[in-house]
Amino acid sequence: MKNMQHANYKLSNALIRKSPSLLLALFLLTFSTSNYACEFKDVHFTADFETGKLDACKQLANDKLGNEQFELLSKPENRPINPSPWYAFKIINKTPAEIQHVTLIIKSEKAKARYLPKISIDGKHWQPIPFEIIDEAIHIKLMLDTKDIYIAGQEIVDNAFYAQWMPSIAETSAFTLSKLGLSTEGRNIDALVYSKPENNEWFLIIGRQHPPEVTGALALVSFVEQLSKDQQLNRDFLERFNVMIIPNLNPDGVANGNWRHNTKGIDLNRDWGKFTQTETQQVQAWLDETLIEQQRLVFALDFHSTQQDIFYTMPPDYAVAPQHFSENWLKKLKDATLSSFVVRQRPGSSPGRGVLKQYLADEYNIHSITYEMGDNTERELIEHVAQEAVKTLMQQMIDTSPASFLYKPAIVESSLSETASKELQD
Ligand SMILES: [Zn+2]
Repeated sequence: MKNMQHANYKLSNALIRKSPSLLLALFLLTFSTSNYACEFKDVHFTADFETGKLDACKQLANDKLGNEQFELLSKPENRPINPSPWYAFKIINKTPAEIQHVTLIIKSEKAKARYLPKISIDGKHWQPIPFEIIDEAIHIKLMLDTKDIYIAGQEIVDNAFYAQWMPSIAETSAFTLSKLGLSTEGRNIDALVYSKPENNEWFLIIGRQHPPEVTGALALVSFVEQLSKDQQLNRDFLERFNVMIIPNLNPDGVANGNWRHNTKGIDLNRDWGKFTQTETQQVQAWLDETLIEQQRLVFALDFHSTQQDIFYTMPPDYAVAPQHFSENWLKKLKDATLSSFVVRQRPGSSPGRGVLKQYLADEYNIHSITYEMGDNTERELIEHVAQEAVKTLMQQMIDTSPASFLYKPAIVESSLSETASKELQD
């Protein structure tokens, strides 16, 4: 099914210049994506692909050298919003026989630039492009020849990527591909699952609540690839633990090039415990169905990106067990990673805000970590850290006894009778 959607999508791209009516028919059959396009005499800009984001363009006066200049605008899906302006578009030279030198000025509505521009010819291989920031806008100079050029804030990791990558993990490992449900716009939300009937401790991994947080997505991919390897440590780990991986919880936001929210304009990582959105509700339903009888969640990771590499943890004195689990793991990760990587640990709690890590602590008394990679962290380092993260975490989980993962409230010295304190614990 997913592959068919991908095929349709590719087909619609191929047909776009040939038949508008066919395109419309295909459009109705497939999903909507950001499809803004603007035409000028010499160039054409379009965002008619998954993750595409472009909301307005205008031609400015030519620069001193006579080169054409275009101002391009990205607007958020709704407000209020955390200012993480995403942009992704394609530029087509309408007279490919002539080389065009153009300047692009990429602006974000009421927000500073966050993502540094990358360039690609095929939409798959990316490299940084020189830029200047002037008045909070990104200025880049391009030479256009016969090839269409993609420009985006980060490498594009779209739903088509997950539709290809997840089955490839399932085919080559002990994990199986499972459908969790559908997003608001009807896209698949899929999971990679490993479980054995005799295991009862679960490790949960979630990703892509926030669509443009691509370095977090890349970290999750490297993490899962390492976790799914057939090696002795992994086999020992899976001998005891079950694993649930949901790499792409917000496929609508990804497809539409959203800055942060799902298609209903909600920040999914402020919806845990409230469960107003179908995407978070599906995880809640899975937790409710799975964590019955002896089955319990023991640890979770939630992958994101921010300005720098940070691990947001629950404080050791919070009602989670084992008390120093996250702290101890991150110390091991620090020792295992190269000196070029700084493990920044930020313990904190924010009850009632709807953050996944907080919800899991309050509901299940477990540690979980918001694993944030820096927007500009070297991609090789992201992979290296993820690989070491898997190895050190698996070892630490194996070394932790099942009883230690169970939270036992401290016995409070008080005037409460024994019966009363037992009731409190229940
Ligand atoms: Zn995030």
